[in-house]
Amino acid sequence: MDLIPSFSVDHTRIIPGIFTSRVDTLGDNLVTTYDIRVTRPNAEPAVDVAAMHSLEHLIATFLRNDPDWKDEVIYWGPMGCLTGFYLILKGNRAPKDIYELLLNSFRSVESAEDVPGATAENCGNFRMHNLEMAKWYAKRFADYLSENAGNPAIFEYPKTERLVTDDGRQFFDS
Ligand SMILES: [Zn+2]
Repeated sequence: MDLIPSFSVDHTRIIPGIFTSRVDTLGDNLVTTYDIRVTRPNAEPAVDVAAMHSLEHLIATFLRNDPDWKDEVIYWGPMGCLTGFYLILKGNRAPKDIYELLLNSFRSVESAEDVPGATAENCGNFRMHNLEMAKWYAKRFADYLSENAGNPAIFEYPKTERLVTDDGRQFFDS
């Protein structure tokens, strides 16, 4: 069974949402990478880089302390394009099944009083944080998720053929 999708995502038609990026096997287990898209790629400004960094710290801390989910979380981190985050979880849940988790994660940012780990000892660039902007993006995305709970398009990527580069290799962005 080929679990690595041969399709690529049509970035011109992406809307914000929770999407399966890829499913990998690790021994006898499945591991799923999700794209958590916070802004529309190439159609609106990407997330402010300092806010992105703060959201990385805040939501990683939330996910890794949530009693129901902490043992399922392998990785949370920002996309290089600054339009969203990668979430890697054990297993192979549908995006809908992690909707509440993501909604709660972004809602938790609104009441944050500081950015955990924003110190020279704990972070590679502790000066580059922006809690107020992180809250603004988090509220915007959480409101969007609430308003679109019944919209299947926030759980399913628009697909296209995978790009083949000039030297014949397939393009991947993660
Ligand atoms: Zn950091």
